[in-house]
Amino acid sequence: LVQARNVHKSFDQLEVLKGIDLNVMPGEVVAILGPSGSGKSTLLRCINHLEAIHKGYIEVDGEQIGYRVRNNRLEKLSSSGIARQRRKIGMVFQQFNLYPHMTVLQNIIEAPVGVHKENRKDAIENARRLLDRVGLSEKTDSFPRQLSGGQQQRVAIARALAIKPKLMLFDEPTSALDPELVGEVLATMRDLASEGLTMIVVTHEISFAREAADRVVFMDGGHLIEMGKPEDVIGNPQHPRTQAFLSRFL
Ligand code: ATP
Ligand code: MG
Repeated sequence: LVQARNVHKSFDQLEVLKGIDLNVMPGEVVAILGPSGSGKSTLLRCINHLEAIHKGYIEVDGEQIGYRVRNNRLEKLSSSGIARQRRKIGMVFQQFNLYPHMTVLQNIIEAPVGVHKENRKDAIENARRLLDRVGLSEKTDSFPRQLSGGQQQRVAIARALAIKPKLMLFDEPTSALDPELVGEVLATMRDLASEGLTMIVVTHEISFAREAADRVVFMDGGHLIEMGKPEDVIGNPQHPRTQAFLSRFL
C-alpha cells in the first residue's frame, strides 16, 4: 500500500531524511521507533504530503504522492489533487486538535461533509458507528472540553477514520496523555490493528510495538537503521544504536 524509495528531505541545510526505503503491505501495522530528532514525524508528514520531499518517491495506493501521470509524464498535482490523495490517508497527532466549539459528532462529520461533500445523513450514521467503535457512543453531543485527554484522542481517531482512509498515520498518539489514560487509546489502536487497518505508528510505547505491530522500524539520524519483526528488532536488536536506544526502556 505504501512504497517509499530513497526518500530525502531537508530543511534548509539540515538533511532530516537521508534515503528512506519503506514498504507497507495492506493490513500491515508498522511501528516506528527512534530518538528525538531522528526524522520520524517528518517521514509521516512526507507520506501525507504535509511536506514535499526533495528526492526519491512515495507511492500510496498506487499513486505517487504529490504527482500524477499525464501523457506518460509525471506532473505536479494541484492542491485539489493533493486533497484527493490525502483523503486516502488519516492522521492522528500527539495533540488532538479537535475543534473546541464543535460537539464530538460535529468534529467527526466536519471533513466528510464540509470538505468532501458527503451526504450529511450518511456521514452522521458513519460517525455514530465510529464512536461506537472507539467506545464513545455516549459522548456524541459532548464538547471536547468535557472529555478526558484519552477520550479526546479517541474522538480524534474516529475523526481521522471518518474519511474512510486506506492508511492511518499515528504520530505519538499517546505521548501527550496522562499515564492512566494511555491504555484506553492503545486498546483502541489495537482493535483497529486487529480489524486489518493499515497503520504506521510512531510511538515510544515499546510494549505496544512489540504486541500490536507486524513490523518494527528503528530510525536514527534520518536513516532507517533496522527493520523487522518485533521479536527481532525489539527482542534481539542487531545494530548498536538500536540496542542503545532500547536499553533506555528496560
Ligand atoms: P521527536 O521524537 O522529538 O518527535 P522526530 O523523530 O519526530 O522527533 P522530526 O520532527 O522529524 O523528528 O525532526 C527531525 C529534524 O528536523 C529535527 O532536527 C527538527 O528540528 C527538524 N525539523 C523538523 N521540522 C522542521 C521544520 N519545519 N523546519 C526546520 N526544521 C525542522
Ligand atoms: Mg516527532
